[in-house]
Amino acid sequence: MGPFCDRCGSRMHERMLEGKRRQVCSACKAVRYPDVIAAVSAIVYDDQRRIMLVRRGIEPGYGCWVIPGGYVEAGETMEQAALRETREEVDLPLGTPQLSGVYLSTDTRVATIVYAVRGQFRDPEPGSETLQAKVFAIEHIPWSEVYFESTRRALDDWVRKG
Ligand SMILES: [Zn+2]
Repeated sequence: MGPFCDRCGSRMHERMLEGKRRQVCSACKAVRYPDVIAAVSAIVYDDQRRIMLVRRGIEPGYGCWVIPGGYVEAGETMEQAALRETREEVDLPLGTPQLSGVYLSTDTRVATIVYAVRGQFRDPEPGSETLQAKVFAIEHIPWSEVYFESTRRALDDWVRKG
């Protein structure tokens, strides 16, 4: 989000509009709205309700645990995105994604749609952006090392649902 208009290239100015401070183009009057973008994550679990966490190999949150996830691309369904992102991080046989929850904090532009997916944990092979993939019993989830508030909330909600 630079200082110039995406439509005509002129300089953007801050104006009060509809009761909020908005970026408005000085020439064509285009308004820049803070659009929310969609991400997906997957809680991959097995018959014993163990879950798979992956240790991030990229910033932010390098070395912390997360569930597989990433941004949704136009041209795929949410379920396809959840499976694609999971497979990019760890190669496992996966079931059909079931919607688990939707998370959007007021301090972020990213809405995360979280799916629960049954997986077969046989020596999970981590992908290039992942340091390690590991299976945890619910009582051993390393909560203090789990990155992203949305991940902690999603996991907590799923664990409570039983
Ligand atoms: Zn403009």
